[in-house]
Amino acid sequence: MDDLQGVLKGQKIAYFSMEIGLSSEIPTYAGGLGVLAGDTIRSAADLNIPLVAVTLVSNKGYFRQILDPFGNQIEHTEEWNPARFMTLLAEEVSVKIQNRDVKIRAWLYNYKSLTGGCVPIIFLDTDVEGNEWEDRRITDFLYGGDQRYRLKQEIVLGIGGVRMLEALGFTIRKYHMNEGHSSLLALELLKRNGTDPVKVKELCIFTTHTPVEAGHDKFDYGLVEELIQDKNDVDTLRRFGGADRFNTSLFALNLSNYINGVTKRHSCVSKELFPGYQIQAITNGIHSYTWTSPYFRKLYDHYLPGWANEPELLVRVDGIPDNEIWEAHRNAKKALIDEVNRRTGVGMDYEALTIGFARRMTAYKRPTLVLSDLDMLRKINRRGRIQLIFSGKAHPHDEAGKQIIREIFKSMEILREDIKIAFLENYDMDLAAKMVSGVDLWLNTPTRPYEASGTSGMKAAHNGVVNFSVLDGWWIEGWIEGVTGWAMGPQPDEKLSEEEARAAELSDLYSKLYYIIVPMYYERRDDWVQLMNNSIAMIAYYFNSHRMMRRYVTHAYL
Ligand SMILES: *Cc1c(COP(=O)(O)O)cnc(C)c1O
Repeated sequence: MDDLQGVLKGQKIAYFSMEIGLSSEIPTYAGGLGVLAGDTIRSAADLNIPLVAVTLVSNKGYFRQILDPFGNQIEHTEEWNPARFMTLLAEEVSVKIQNRDVKIRAWLYNYKSLTGGCVPIIFLDTDVEGNEWEDRRITDFLYGGDQRYRLKQEIVLGIGGVRMLEALGFTIRKYHMNEGHSSLLALELLKRNGTDPVKVKELCIFTTHTPVEAGHDKFDYGLVEELIQDKNDVDTLRRFGGADRFNTSLFALNLSNYINGVTKRHSCVSKELFPGYQIQAITNGIHSYTWTSPYFRKLYDHYLPGWANEPELLVRVDGIPDNEIWEAHRNAKKALIDEVNRRTGVGMDYEALTIGFARRMTAYKRPTLVLSDLDMLRKINRRGRIQLIFSGKAHPHDEAGKQIIREIFKSMEILREDIKIAFLENYDMDLAAKMVSGVDLWLNTPTRPYEASGTSGMKAAHNGVVNFSVLDGWWIEGWIEGVTGWAMGPQPDEKLSEEEARAAELSDLYSKLYYIIVPMYYERRDDWVQLMNNSIAMIAYYFNSHRMMRRYVTHAYL
């Protein structure tokens, strides 16, 4: 099984993330952040970048989503068995929580690339004999529980993670925090470096993902003192993490020399949120091979050999005959429609323009924007048949997110005679791969500026699926109107109120569907296939995690 000796060699970048999405079978991710972490690891392995990743084992997963006929979400635990995939290591470390020593053990998963590269991933686990029952539960649920539970998890991830890497014998060159959840690692590094922030800053890299103040993890010092207790430690947290409440992002900002946002726009927004900090931009990407359907992989392999480890080659997609692009797409679409019909019995059509929306169901992503005016949708549908496929989980505590799912079900019922709509249960990486490759048009309608990046549209583009999106996150950099897809709503730097922006977005959403998108799909198929080509040549060639990781290497890691 997975062997530790082989992966200890040399100095490594330690990549810390609360969630990591390796596959649907390993349910230690909730959404884009975790999938990005997975893609980071996949590209690092392909490119032979010396990385070791650290996360929590999340023994009971995020959750399994069941939906009743009204769209009420029922949450089941997603028990899984790490021993099926990884090796339990002998080393144990401990952290102090509420003055108790909490023992931590580690599972090792070696992610191996066909190129010979390998990234070890350490899954921390507190379900250790000798720990109190309560402490054994700390690494059960990803994003479960309350603030107290979350802070305990962050202690295990940040402090426990640094100690585990040391105990296992890794030599760490830099620590990369993927979001603020792991920033307590800097507390541990301060202790090892005579509380010298200059030394610690040289060791730390911080990637922020959250464009709004309220989204950053904050903890009351009452709670911090109760869990961490050590007075010196708490003083250090106050000094670098905020006087009123402990802000994990602020702590990471103050203790990292290299800080970046995940798109150009997001780095600007972050500079406004945190004035005075140098915040760079490294635009996200996705792992090209993972997110390309088998049908397109085959095409690219034939016409653009080497594309998987050098996605820049996709820029030459025009050398692939149009009919083969269309055929590959039809195959991916058939696979998705068959899955939809098998799961829901809704009887979707292989020929109809198919629109997809799948991501975490939460208010800022506005999954129901397209359902705002059902008569408009009927009118569009008379011009040319459309069908819609939705999927996504709402966080168990996100009542607004759960309400959104019910609203989609309600619209589905109202439109039943006119437009086929499906909501697929339990969104995961496998379903994501099917959806982003099998629809014709990928819809993205977040409230600006809340979508720091977004990555599902990049996955779509790798499969010749055309994007139609609000100008937020990555789309500001990927969008060329009518060439790589279409935009709705205000221009990137137009300052409108949320209400005005929504009106503009809705108006574009419906009018572009009616006047441009539906007619092109049905009447000018050649033009449509050109847009598919452009999506591959002008989006996929750049918005991939190989390019992203090379940037991290040259700008942050070296
Ligand atoms: C890519 C992916 C996401 C991210 O989607 P966004 O549209 O960027 O929010 C979320 N969940 C899964 C399972 C994914 O594969």
